[in-house]
Amino acid sequence: MKGVRKADLPTKTCPVCNRPFTWRKKWERVWELVKYCSDRCRGEARKRERS
Ligand SMILES: [Zn+2]
Repeated sequence: MKGVRKADLPTKTCPVCNRPFTWRKKWERVWELVKYCSDRCRGEARKRERS
């Protein structure tokens, strides 16, 4: 065993900017619900829904 890899953290792909983002401590309780990499992308997604 060589220890735990950082790559073991879960990742998702943001549908707005199409970039992968990695699990963060602040999301530990809401990871299932997180869709976007940032508040900015979440805002963008809302704008798009409106049109
Ligand atoms: Zn994004």
